[in-house]
Amino acid sequence: MHDLLARLGLDNHPRVIADPRGDETPENDGIVVSRSPATGQPIAAVRLDTAEDYERITQRAVAAFDRWRRVPAPKRGEVVRRIGNAYRDVLEDLGSLLTLEMGKIKAEGIGEVQETIDIADFAVGQSRMLYGKTMPSERPLHAMKEQWLPLGPMGVITAFNFPNAVWGWNAMLAAVCGDVSVWKPSLLTPLITLATNDIAQRVASEMGHEDIFQVVIGTDDTIGERMIADKRYPLISATGSCRMGRRVGSVVAERLGKCLLELGGNNAVIIEPDADLDLALKSTVFGSIGTCGQRCTTSRRLYLHESIADDFTAKLASAYETVRIGDPLADGTLVGPLITEGSVQAFEQAIERAESEGGTVVTGGERLDAGKLPAELQGGHYVVPTIIRAPAGNELPVAMDETFAPILYVFTYRDLDDAISMQNSVDQGLSSAIFTGSSRSAERFLDPCGTGSDCGLAYVNLGTSGAEIGGAFGGEKDTGGGRESGSDSWKAYMRRQTCSTSFSPTLELAQGIRFE
Ligand code: NAD
Repeated sequence: MHDLLARLGLDNHPRVIADPRGDETPENDGIVVSRSPATGQPIAAVRLDTAEDYERITQRAVAAFDRWRRVPAPKRGEVVRRIGNAYRDVLEDLGSLLTLEMGKIKAEGIGEVQETIDIADFAVGQSRMLYGKTMPSERPLHAMKEQWLPLGPMGVITAFNFPNAVWGWNAMLAAVCGDVSVWKPSLLTPLITLATNDIAQRVASEMGHEDIFQVVIGTDDTIGERMIADKRYPLISATGSCRMGRRVGSVVAERLGKCLLELGGNNAVIIEPDADLDLALKSTVFGSIGTCGQRCTTSRRLYLHESIADDFTAKLASAYETVRIGDPLADGTLVGPLITEGSVQAFEQAIERAESEGGTVVTGGERLDAGKLPAELQGGHYVVPTIIRAPAGNELPVAMDETFAPILYVFTYRDLDDAISMQNSVDQGLSSAIFTGSSRSAERFLDPCGTGSDCGLAYVNLGTSGAEIGGAFGGEKDTGGGRESGSDSWKAYMRRQTCSTSFSPTLELAQGIRFE
């Protein structure tokens, strides 16, 4: 572990205390201890920023923005290209640190850093394609165009479960758009934050651009609330729970700032009887237990046609029971720990509630038996991935909420329209999927009139989790409506200006108004 921290420059880092006591708390000591969710043991501690630090960082961001926006966009793209390459050089180490601190398995840790590299590549191309439009003017001898301009310093607030890529989606695109970013991470993942940001900051400063990427680490009261209320950040991009989004959205709206909200999901999979059921099974297992159920896009509800429901549920339960749970850094592990003991308790409470509402536990339903874990993992937060079958009539209110843990609720349907309307019946609208061999059912699900899935992401014969960076990522309803990553998401990081030029010798007014 020490070697890994050293290779990523965290051993002699001014903000990192390599050997914390383990009992410090942010409130008492001005530091946050980062613990491995796999062992419960401290990895290192990080000094928290104060209100004065926040002010200094923000002033630097404002000054850096004024310099950075003057750099031509393709030159900004060159900086981002080199940052992507610098991440390529440490892909394995950064992915391992992510696994150590957050607990997702190593393949997923590395995959997450790869996502940041991918979005850096995407942003490099985008830096030459910040296209505006020209449009014909209704007035003679006039020209009209739209152009996109840098927006300002951006506050990026991230959740614990994607502590590298969500920042990457925002910061890489924002950088080519001419914005600088100040990153406020979750206090559960300060080390991967510092390691990730240091690389970007180092590459940019070696190329003569200081303070394009900064980090501010602190409690929500001292730092988070200050940032969201601060007019010097015209855009706050916030990823996390719906509860957090309601607060951030209302504070930013109060000051008429812009918000990009990426909030909770409650994602469903519909499986039709004509689907490739082997494919559906494998996809559903990955979608529901990958990252130990801690993805915003995790499959949480499964709607099975009544003709396949019993058989498919039995096969799914058998597949769940073969999955290896344990050390996320070890080869062969498919499910690592939950992030904290609090998450384990939320998992247990949801199961208790589901049972009290008439649900039946098909498999799992408990913490992992400590006897199945080696001594060094005894302090970890392990649970057994769980399937719960809803009672006849499909009434299971607990399934309306997002519990950030590997619990899959199974419902039965007869008619596809009913399945789609049950899928759409939750408050969130992030990801959705249908498995079917029929193009009629697939098109019904994707109905361009909007009567199919009401989510931001809709997949056919693919599970709900695992988005590619090329498409715009985000969700509707309580998921917040933001879009990040590919397609035209870059526009969120810029301001639009409509420019009209007259080269007429006479005054021409729109709508034919005469003013003589
Ligand atoms: P969380 O809401 O507890 O925290 C997210 C971030 O918001 C943290 O950095 C936290 O410190 C910050 N925050 C909380 N209150 C704040 C305030 N008042 N002012 C400023 N910042 C504040 O979420 P979490 O437990 O870290 O992450 C899990 C949640 O994130 C789940 O609901 C998951 O679905 C969601 N998520 C959504 C997406 C998406 O793209 N839609 C991606 C990842 C995670």
